[in-house]
Amino acid sequence: MTMGKSDGKWRLRFRNGNIVDADLVIAADGANSKIRPLLCDIKPIYSGITIVEGNIYHAGKNAPILNEMVQGGKIFAMGGEKSIILSAKGEGSLSFYTGTKEAADWLTTCSINFNDKNSVLNWFRERFSDWPALWEELFASDEMYIIPRPMFHYPADQSWPAQPDLTMLGDAAHRMPPYAGEGVNMAMLDALELADSLGNPAMNTVHEAIAAYEVQMRQRAGEVTTFTLEQTEWIHASGAAQKMAAMFAEPGE
Ligand SMILES: Cc1cc2nc3c(=O)[nH]c(=O)nc-3n(C[C@H](O)[C@H](O)[C@H](O)COP(=O)(O)OP(=O)(O)OC[C@H]3O[C@@H](n4cnc5c(N)ncnc54)[C@H](O)[C@@H]3O)c2cc1C
Repeated sequence: MTMGKSDGKWRLRFRNGNIVDADLVIAADGANSKIRPLLCDIKPIYSGITIVEGNIYHAGKNAPILNEMVQGGKIFAMGGEKSIILSAKGEGSLSFYTGTKEAADWLTTCSINFNDKNSVLNWFRERFSDWPALWEELFASDEMYIIPRPMFHYPADQSWPAQPDLTMLGDAAHRMPPYAGEGVNMAMLDALELADSLGNPAMNTVHEAIAAYEVQMRQRAGEVTTFTLEQTEWIHASGAAQKMAAMFAEPGE
């Protein structure tokens, strides 16, 4: 997709040949947004953590031990400055992501073939050698996919001038690691607040409505980015599991 101005409107050219002219464009095209650079040139910052995300289909058959452990819910496992988050999905699959501290260029230097499960398993065995071997069941079946994802975020105090006919929401505006579990909530709240602002009779122009939305969206996203980075560090610090257990053992108010 490419996008540029034509006769005062935005002209979007899609790869399938479709051309669309728009008075207002809302970029909701995710972490690698192609539209974001038209709003600002703030580059994402590598968090130091790379995720290897996977999904195991028919987990009852393909990962029975882990599937039994997760009991239809979620497991946060931490140890040795590494993490694995395991989640049961409604249709019977298990999704997981490992979190490890890797260099920014790890994907190009690690020599792992992420299209070859056994290549990833060899890496996992070595990288998680201080974890119980039962976690190798993550890679036991061929009914799965694996995607490596270096985790980036934007500065918590990012800002850009509001445009009269272009804005963004969700990961396009505020990508961050998933360790506070707020990405989807924020994308949905962005959409709600933007719609409210555009429909607000107190706003004299679309430009004004976009500016008001962006100010509160950035404020909220900045706070969540800060909290997320704290959580990311916390989960991958030494002794994280012990600290977590101690937190739950503290008497409540
Ligand atoms: C491993 C992992 C675990 C996560 N866990 C959680 C969690 O537990 N809780 C949580 O709240 N968040 C979680 N997140 C974050 C969450 O997935 C994102 O914050 C959320 O999906 C952002 O929504 P979005 O609509 O902005 O972007 P996306 O969900 O990425 O949607 C963007 C859409 O735009 C489409 N698109 C992009 N470019 C084009 C184009 N040119 N033409 C047409 N379509 C296009 C894409 O195909 C995609 O469908 C996790 C993320 C990861 C990677």
